[in-house]
Amino acid sequence: MKRRRLLVNGIVQGVGFRPFVMRTAVELGLAGHVCNTSAGVVIEIEGVGPGLDEFARRLQEEAPPLSQVVSVGSEDIPAAGARGFEIQVSADTPGTSTLVPPDIAACADCLREVRDPADRRHGYAFTNCTNCGPRWTIIGRIPYDRPHTSMARFAMCPACQTEYDDLQDRRFHAQPNACAVCGPRLWVEGPLGATGQANDPIEQTAEALARHAVLAIRGLGGFHLAVRADVSAAVRHLRQRKRRPHKPLAVMVPDIAAVRRLARTTTEDEELLLSPAAPIVLVPKRPDLPEALLAAEVAPGNRHVGLMLPPTPLHHLLFDALAQHGITALVMTSGNASEEPICIANDEATARLATIADAFLLHDREILRRADDSVLQVVAGRTMLLRRSRGLAPVPVFLPDTERAEPVLAVGTQLKNTVCLLKDGRAFLSPHIGDLGQLETDAFFRETVATLQDVLECTPRIIAHDEHPGYMATVWAAEQHKRNPELQLVPVQHHHAHLAAVLAEHQLPGPAVGLIMDGTGYGTDGTIWGGEILVGDATSFSRVGHFEPVPLPGGDAAIKAPWRQAVSYLRHTFGAEFFASHPDEFPFQGDRPVKPVLEILDRGVNSPLTSSCGRLFDAVAALVDIWAETTYEAQAAIELAALTTPEEVRQAQPFVLAVEELRERIDNATDGSPLLLPVAAIIRAVREARRAGVSPPGISAMFHRTLIEILARAAGWAAARHGSNDIVLAGGVFQNGILLEGLANRLRRDGLQPWCPEQIPPGDGGVSLGQAAVAAARLFPQPESNQ
Ligand code: ZN
Ligand code: ZN
Ligand code: FE
Repeated sequence: MKRRRLLVNGIVQGVGFRPFVMRTAVELGLAGHVCNTSAGVVIEIEGVGPGLDEFARRLQEEAPPLSQVVSVGSEDIPAAGARGFEIQVSADTPGTSTLVPPDIAACADCLREVRDPADRRHGYAFTNCTNCGPRWTIIGRIPYDRPHTSMARFAMCPACQTEYDDLQDRRFHAQPNACAVCGPRLWVEGPLGATGQANDPIEQTAEALARHAVLAIRGLGGFHLAVRADVSAAVRHLRQRKRRPHKPLAVMVPDIAAVRRLARTTTEDEELLLSPAAPIVLVPKRPDLPEALLAAEVAPGNRHVGLMLPPTPLHHLLFDALAQHGITALVMTSGNASEEPICIANDEATARLATIADAFLLHDREILRRADDSVLQVVAGRTMLLRRSRGLAPVPVFLPDTERAEPVLAVGTQLKNTVCLLKDGRAFLSPHIGDLGQLETDAFFRETVATLQDVLECTPRIIAHDEHPGYMATVWAAEQHKRNPELQLVPVQHHHAHLAAVLAEHQLPGPAVGLIMDGTGYGTDGTIWGGEILVGDATSFSRVGHFEPVPLPGGDAAIKAPWRQAVSYLRHTFGAEFFASHPDEFPFQGDRPVKPVLEILDRGVNSPLTSSCGRLFDAVAALVDIWAETTYEAQAAIELAALTTPEEVRQAQPFVLAVEELRERIDNATDGSPLLLPVAAIIRAVREARRAGVSPPGISAMFHRTLIEILARAAGWAAARHGSNDIVLAGGVFQNGILLEGLANRLRRDGLQPWCPEQIPPGDGGVSLGQAAVAAARLFPQPESNQ
């Protein structure tokens, strides 16, 4: 007989882990017990050696779907002659390192019950079990127990209580356990028209949707605005009311068969769609997709469409009802006006969405934490996160190198803000907050900081923030410091944070070369950076290269007008005379007031220099006729990329001028001055290609090919010079899968090792993690021996 004590860490509480441990032990004939402690789940098992080894193996390999085993510590202890195996229901102690689980899509068992007319949960929209259901969004405070959730007001009926108390039941300690007798209920509010026949709220909703109404539906992490995705007029209607003219809308479909009717998916795409987070996955539309299946207005100018499967029984039941009306696809977009945070409360939604929705499908299970749908895509067989939110937050990113650090709060950047709380080697990234600088989002930011601190029972003394003095989060950090001078502020350069975030998630000590291709971020020299070659580690960096700086006429206002970029980039390349001598070369010259832009540039007012790669994309897009004002971030770049395909880019010729110019600059590079990546040569080549009659898709392919060529060569140069083969690819521009995949392949062929963001978005949603990693590395350096 041997006895062993195991300490299991990770997402192992509130996910059916203890019953799993017990079943496994019983199957293997092992004795002992399992309990939750402040340090993690502690298991003591007793039996013969091979049984114990088998147990350890199964613990890792067969753990319940929602759990995430990060580490298993093991020590042999004296045998105690135990008989049987038990779950010790321990009182959770404060200050525990309990990890709050994320919300999980309905499991197959629950769905079977919901659709079984003989089951007591038949048709019940709030069915859940230990393997599925709401978690993060219903938690008021920890420990995660029913009285601390929004289920507290629903007393369980005897049948539910029996399940909850039974160790062997699928609903043992399932905190949101409920049924139609005792649990939350649904109802519809608002005029649904005179023809409605149904009594059931879900059927009423389906009827209204069939008649092209816009419905606000209260879901898991907030409200959705829903409308049929197969009727152009209905989608246009929603866009007008929501004041969202172009940004792609997400579409929910009932099952994988419906996905395949709309999109060409890979196995990886389908695995993601079916994953417990039930995220939105960007997938390529079928080329022959008929309008009758998906209105063109859903994702205009885009080869991809964001699809998701129903996350809860409520949504499954809605699709069952919609099937009666022949509807298999709904636009499901965040229930908010323009860029405000998603609505979560009934009264909030009925007030704020009154001018958008015709009616509301409401329920009385309060949502305590906002969580937008997460957005993912598969690039080169790997998952890329575009928005890390429902189902993924607050699962931490594990950063063992920071275990010795004191807790750090990192407040992120201005756009696509997230915040991050680093504690005990775990970085808890908040769900997507949004673009700061507006009343509602700023309030959501403060609410999120408070939430993370509450849930993790920790108020850090250290706050990391962006170096931009005007960012709302920076101002907030400074205010905190003013109120409490004990607080230590750590300013972190934006692109350094992008680099550090990727180093941290891959546990790379660095130094590495960072190709940080971004929109805009505040540089250390007062200019706006965004197309940077950095060399550094978590502590420090140097800027060894960047794109030629070009003025941004009118500052941030220029970002929404690609044609303004084009004016500035043409002036940078050919001089201001160009516009007088070629008055009609580009269509925007006749259509938009070019002259005032030139005047702003000539006088140099409000025209900061930028090395941004995102702005270069804007300018090139404008030169191939994607020049009109945009209505969502990176629209021009996305539409430019949508003109081409990875295959066409592989076969395209790069712009020889630009590649030659870079080669020359590399040959003449001197120590101390950064390598300038060509811009004027690219603009010149784009113009020549256009004059030679190359089509916009052809130019897009050549431009992508050129960027891959230039960035790969520059990376090779930096790698050789600084003795590191690790190349980090980060920044919002790398949401462009064609560029990312092409460049990563090319780097590998050149014998370099590309590293991409995988657990965080490449764009600004991942910056807070990098800020936290930089602060931890600067203030709590690792002992030498660990490096
Ligand atoms: Zn379930
Ligand atoms: Zn019940
Ligand atoms: Fe950025």
